[in-house]
Amino acid sequence: MKVRVGAASDIGQVREGNEDAYLVDEPLFAVADGMGGHRGGEVASSLALETIQRSFRRSGSLGEHVEEANRSVFERSQLDRNVAGMGTTLTAALVEGERVRLAHVGDSRAYLFREGELHRLTEDHTLVHRMVREGEISEAEAETHPHRSILTRALGVDPGVQVDEGYVEVAPGDRLLLCTDGLTGMLSEERIREILEETADPHRAVDRFVQEANRAGGVDNITAVILDFEEEGQPTREPSTTTLQDAEPATTTLRAEGAPARGANGETAAHSPRAARRPSPSASRSPEFSGSTRPGAPRSPARRVTRLAIGAGIAVAVLVLALVGLRLYVDSQWFVGVSEDRVAIFRGVPAQVVGFELHSVVLETPIDADEARALALYRDLDDGITADDREGAEAIVEQIRVDVARARAEGP
Ligand code: MG
Repeated sequence: MKVRVGAASDIGQVREGNEDAYLVDEPLFAVADGMGGHRGGEVASSLALETIQRSFRRSGSLGEHVEEANRSVFERSQLDRNVAGMGTTLTAALVEGERVRLAHVGDSRAYLFREGELHRLTEDHTLVHRMVREGEISEAEAETHPHRSILTRALGVDPGVQVDEGYVEVAPGDRLLLCTDGLTGMLSEERIREILEETADPHRAVDRFVQEANRAGGVDNITAVILDFEEEGQPTREPSTTTLQDAEPATTTLRAEGAPARGANGETAAHSPRAARRPSPSASRSPEFSGSTRPGAPRSPARRVTRLAIGAGIAVAVLVLALVGLRLYVDSQWFVGVSEDRVAIFRGVPAQVVGFELHSVVLETPIDADEARALALYRDLDDGITADDREGAEAIVEQIRVDVARARAEGP
């Protein structure tokens, strides 16, 4: 099977940076939507994609490559204070002849467009999706829910991650779409379907996605990758409404399966390094480490100086140990507080030590901090409401949202 690819990523109309990234390195394709602070999101999404690309050159299943990406993002966030608490979504596709393997974490999505119909292949790992599943809200309400971007699963926030894995059989004429929530949050699935139906050229189709998402507000970064499957040796054609061959009965749901080894087909498939990613921000950056740099011990022959140096060395070692201990402690703490006048989830403790913040924003919610503070229960929001873990913090945010909505409904 031949694959024609169109890919685009755009900053959108509102954001200051593009924290999305994509990978096009046939037979491996992926999108990632980073989050966490000023630099964190960009680093997380690029690092995740670089890691699966590198990991893919060794053996292992797609799920294992994604787990490898999780480890590398998590480890970087532990080492670099500037990106602590970062994470990313990741939706990856590996083309093995007529079978496309999928691995997925977060709220980016994979769709199959076949014979005029759009099938969603992935499940969002979000709080609202969980609420839909539990019957608390409808699918339609979820589409416009203010908290639809709160993730219940992301890559790089914990040492391990649960990866959804599955596959779909494709036939000539099928189109696979990988995209971030900056597209699905702006365009309805019906509109996405129409664009895929009307726009045969994959480059033009991704450009239209970006254009229309921006026209609809472009409140988030927008990224889309389209894979068009064609018969081998077939000249570039414009797919029409008539498909060349009967598509197989749609086997399009993301099936769970136990991390099978990549087939011989995938092992031998040539994957020329045709990475068409946005320039990696990490390329020009060396990792920064938290804690102070250790001063070199003075090299003087005088014994007194040596003794002083040993003393200083021990003091530095104790300080380093203390910093490492503090770091481990801080990283296991969660709280809900205020960032940029919005209610936000933080990792760390709500304090500073000699000018260093001991926390970083993991998630900014759209909840207005003033509205929350107006309620007696959250008057001290600025001091931080501590939680046992991320889930706990999300539950607090959900409670605040409910309380604020109720207060608004009841009026002053
Ligand atoms: Mg996004």
